[in-house]
Amino acid sequence: MRLPRLSVDPLAALFAALALVLLIVFLVMLGSTQPRSNGTELPYTTVQRKAAAGEVRNAVQLDYDHRLLITDRAGAEAWTSFPATGGLQDQLLTQLDRKGASVVIDAQSGKQAKRLIVQVLLPILILASLFALFMRVSQQADAGGMGAFSRWAGRRSKLGPGSTGGPSFADVAGAPAAVAELQELCDLLRFPERYSALGARPPKGALLVGPPGTGKTLLARATAGEAHAAFFSVSGAEFVESLVGVGAARIRDLFAKARAAAPAIVFIDELDAVGRKRGAGVGQGNDEREQTLNQLLVEMDGFDAGRGLIVLAATNRPDILDPALLRPGRFDRQVTVDAPDADGRAQILSLYLKGRPCEADVTPAEIARRCPGFTGAELENVVNEAALLSARAGQAAIGVDDLDEAIQRVVGGPRNDTHVLGPDELETIAVHEAAHAVVAAAHGDGAQLHQLSIVSRGRRLGRATTLMLDRDRTVLRRSDLERQLAVTMAGAAAERIAFGEVSTAVNDDLHTATQLARSMVTSFGMSSLGPVTIGEHSAEVFLGASLQELGGVGPGTLERIDAETREIVEEAETRAAKTLSANWPVVQAIADDLVAHETLADVQLAGHLAAVRAAPNGSGPDHGGPADR
Ligand code: ADP
Repeated sequence: MRLPRLSVDPLAALFAALALVLLIVFLVMLGSTQPRSNGTELPYTTVQRKAAAGEVRNAVQLDYDHRLLITDRAGAEAWTSFPATGGLQDQLLTQLDRKGASVVIDAQSGKQAKRLIVQVLLPILILASLFALFMRVSQQADAGGMGAFSRWAGRRSKLGPGSTGGPSFADVAGAPAAVAELQELCDLLRFPERYSALGARPPKGALLVGPPGTGKTLLARATAGEAHAAFFSVSGAEFVESLVGVGAARIRDLFAKARAAAPAIVFIDELDAVGRKRGAGVGQGNDEREQTLNQLLVEMDGFDAGRGLIVLAATNRPDILDPALLRPGRFDRQVTVDAPDADGRAQILSLYLKGRPCEADVTPAEIARRCPGFTGAELENVVNEAALLSARAGQAAIGVDDLDEAIQRVVGGPRNDTHVLGPDELETIAVHEAAHAVVAAAHGDGAQLHQLSIVSRGRRLGRATTLMLDRDRTVLRRSDLERQLAVTMAGAAAERIAFGEVSTAVNDDLHTATQLARSMVTSFGMSSLGPVTIGEHSAEVFLGASLQELGGVGPGTLERIDAETREIVEEAETRAAKTLSANWPVVQAIADDLVAHETLADVQLAGHLAAVRAAPNGSGPDHGGPADR
């Protein structure tokens, strides 16, 4: 944001000076219109008495002030107010006259006009000049002035036509599809004539869809950097004010500025804040949002894409966007920016590890496998945390241990050293975690266990299992899901075997298992309810938002969904219990080791798990495992 300019506008200065002069005149005149009074104030009756006694030498009657000024024979001055009754006043004057005092009557004819000026005319003139000053300032003001309220208040980066130095696509790793898509928009900004020669209608905007931290903002900035275009960025939330019309004015202003700076990219973060479906909800805020959205639609219709202006927007809720925004001619491109896969993660890690000293055994590909589901922002955070940790330890380079600890920190927060667990609690958690490991090892060859730990982190007391997949999987078979469920329920099953009851430590597992089982019933047709989906589905499963709305589903069906879900989870627990019983000595050994050492890494863990016997009912040829973060 630019600072307001300090140069003085002559007209504004004139108005300010006028207001000041008028104010001074007002104050001076106000003083002169005050009622005149000399000497002390006396009660009317005292003056009457003095008049009767002949003590008054002369008197002045002030008509307008309704006062009488007197000077007595000794020369002392005094004054009194006349009573409301005119008769008494006449009486006094006659009395004074009779006793030989000289009485002068001052009509104060100018005072009435003066008072009119001071009380009416001057205040109006002062207010008018202040108002003119205010209007002038708001007209002239840049971002810092009064008019800024209805102006676009976002950021404009220094990138401009022909400039370099901003981020480029080389700074974005692990998102090749998104980069390829945006590359095209870049070409459009740089060589518009190529497209117009062929009569192609260039896209006006692209919507970057993906969860937070996947690099949408970075991609938008990189697009601007590559295209040497000016970059205007704003967050959707900034448009929504409680004053109706402000958002729309800001949109107008933003587009006007961007058009003037073409080639330019307008980036609207959190588009869903303004672009939600219209006609939903009630209240003033909603009216405002609709106006803002309408203005956005109008602006997007109004510019010619060939003129070097492109609108990029980011959202993680494309399902709630107004359909009008998504129709061709507006955000007609959707670029999905999902959390990167293992290769992508390795590339992002390499990108951030590149400039930092690392120990020889740090391989990005290996580290990437230890953090499934991490977004670009989280990976950047991992590298940064690792650098901080190694700096704190006084090391010269980042080691694998630092990266491991950093991953754990990013997942669960720093070690919680203040909460000391009792021996009972430690034993419960150790058995619980050991069970997850054993069942995972017994049920699949795809799952690789890297580390097992009962260190308590953040809110979580001692839950820090890290189960890694050999590769990221997006298509899972029913048997894969069942295996995943068995691993999830293993903790509860083990607690029941070891202690005859479950503890509160199973809460998270139950939640995860129930959600998965419910999806199997309602989304994947994997139950006796048949191959149907129940409820409304949102396509963006990665969003992790509620997968379905069960609004229009009958109570009977809901009951069956619950029963099926329970059955699936119970079956999973039974399966886990069978596996655990067959391998109980291993569970016990791991649990003991965990209590003793808190954390078991690769080698020790592999040693224990080598003794695990494969699950009795076997597993399919294509094994998957849980990605337990
Ligand atoms: P979003 O806008 O999707 O929430 P950001 O673009 O703000 O995410 O990403 C935050 C930070 O994470 C970026 O500044 C960058 O440091 C890092 N980051 C995210 N994704 C990537 C990626 N694919 N490559 C490199 N860095 C990334």
